[in-house]
Amino acid sequence: MFGRLFLILVLLAVSLYIVKYLRTKLDQSQKHNDKDSKDNNQNTKKLMVKCQHCGLHIPEKEAIKKGDNTFCSLEHAKKEL
Ligand SMILES: [Zn+2]
Repeated sequence: MFGRLFLILVLLAVSLYIVKYLRTKLDQSQKHNDKDSKDNNQNTKKLMVKCQHCGLHIPEKEAIKKGDNTFCSLEHAKKEL
């Protein structure tokens, strides 16, 4: 009788611990994701560059670079040089 009660208490404690642990982990991952998306937005804004030919603003990752100049497309890079 006592052994069974003890087992139930242990199972209850373990399940409560797991629920608490999962909630904490979920909160952390959500906060982490929020931080990541904010960082990404800031990075995207920071990394906008202007095409030297047409003046179009494009993300630095998509820009064509020729020395110090940046261009929106390969054609514009060729036209300018
Ligand atoms: Zn351009």
